[in-house]
Amino acid sequence: MKKILNFINGAYCEPFSQDWLDNYNPSKGEVYSKIAYSSSEDVEKAYQAAKDAFPSWSNTTIEERSMILLKIASLIEENLDALAEAETLDNGKPLSLAKAVDIPRASSNFRFFGHAITQFASEAHESVGLNTMNFTIRQPIGVVGCISPWNLPLYLFTWKIAPALAAGNTVVAKPSEVTPMTAYLLGEICNQAGLPKGVLNIVHGTGPSAGQAIVSHPDIKAISFTGGTKTGEHIARTAAPMFKKLSLELGGKNPNLIFADCNYEKMLSVTVRSSFANQGQICLCGSRIFVEKSIYEKFKTDFVAKVKELKVGNPFEADTNIGALVSKPHLEKVKSYIDLAKEEGGKILFGGNQVTVEGSENGYYLEPTIIEILDYQCRVNQEEIFGPVVTIMPFETEEEVLKMANSVKYGLSATLWTSNLDRTMRVSKQLEAGIVWVNTWLNRDLRTPFGGIKSSGVGREGGFEALKFFTEAKNVCIKYD
Ligand code: NAD
Repeated sequence: MKKILNFINGAYCEPFSQDWLDNYNPSKGEVYSKIAYSSSEDVEKAYQAAKDAFPSWSNTTIEERSMILLKIASLIEENLDALAEAETLDNGKPLSLAKAVDIPRASSNFRFFGHAITQFASEAHESVGLNTMNFTIRQPIGVVGCISPWNLPLYLFTWKIAPALAAGNTVVAKPSEVTPMTAYLLGEICNQAGLPKGVLNIVHGTGPSAGQAIVSHPDIKAISFTGGTKTGEHIARTAAPMFKKLSLELGGKNPNLIFADCNYEKMLSVTVRSSFANQGQICLCGSRIFVEKSIYEKFKTDFVAKVKELKVGNPFEADTNIGALVSKPHLEKVKSYIDLAKEEGGKILFGGNQVTVEGSENGYYLEPTIIEILDYQCRVNQEEIFGPVVTIMPFETEEEVLKMANSVKYGLSATLWTSNLDRTMRVSKQLEAGIVWVNTWLNRDLRTPFGGIKSSGVGREGGFEALKFFTEAKNVCIKYD
């Protein structure tokens, strides 16, 4: 059976433990490969390689670093089909989505930061009249750790690695043990692109073992993490006493506010996507839908009719809209929330059932599910489910919907549908979220700051924010006569 090996110092290698985890194909519910179960010994080996590579990589010219990142971007593009198939097999997402979104975005991440580093500059402050000149230099931190989740595997893995490398750091990275395959394939691509050995090291395995070893390593000075809020809390607790730099991109429970004056048809089709894309397993999905009362009944009818048209099926088939959930434990978790919704008085307007797909009877398929709720404070409307499940309820006033939207502990993104400019400004300013989309969703310009507030995270990624995170600012102050 195929083995997913660590990639350390430019070479693939087995874990010291010689232990292996099962890697499942969620569309079939079958083990199809084995993952290196790495421990602190493997992380130490990866750290040493990264440490040795740092002096040279941090002194490599910006032009050379940029060229290598652009080469990686091109190679990802050239291997788009193979990478997309690997992603679908590992994650269960529709192949069409992996081809249109995941892999192109992984390539864009390298291309974007390959260009961005050539434009990254720092400030100078002249103390006029005092014969003093200050300038700021932004130096790479050293060896940094990058840890990513399973929902957008290569997309989010590269979103961290690319700026870290561009800024001149060397990296020890760990993808999710649920979806390690494309990160594994990236090692070979980096070698082909001429990335010097040791600059990027990829260690596989579980969070408590390999992940924890990265976070608690005393000489890995910064951690960029994307994943669940509980894990983020644990990482913060481990890293804070060592004063590590931390960027935490965590969970969400994003509201979708629909006002009667919106462009209805556009809103309807985008809301289907923002609810169920990637089986609802995107941290930015709009899982709480609030609809102005005057259009509520119409919306309910039209939304259910559109969602009924979505095909749940084998992710490799071209007409599949909703593939498999990522794992059996995750499927069970999502189903338990559907049961809870019923206990809490929610009405299932559509879906709610596991689906048996012909030829893939053991796969983890679930119908897209719409739950009408009575109380915005019910658990199903407050806790992150991270599956193809949305709640809906009506509202009457702006004040009321803002109160409901802001009632959760999360604050990642929000979507607002209205054609009233005054309302756009008023509501956007009051929504507690790191990103507010107005009349659009998942519309990303990589230069913009990305991240959440409240329990959705600390810090911002994207654009120069990411390059600032992966560097230390130093003020040089010169007094002259
Ligand atoms: P998770 O927290 O279980 O795991 C994420 C990563 O952390 C994995 O690689 C895992 O192995 C590792 N990990 C687990 N325990 C660790 C520990 N003690 N020390 C170090 N590493 C550890 O999250 P998940 O289930 O893979 O992903 C789903 C979650 O990610 C959802 O909550 C979702 O909202 C969130 N997410 C957030 C964003 C964002 O940008 N804010 C994007 C995507 C996903």
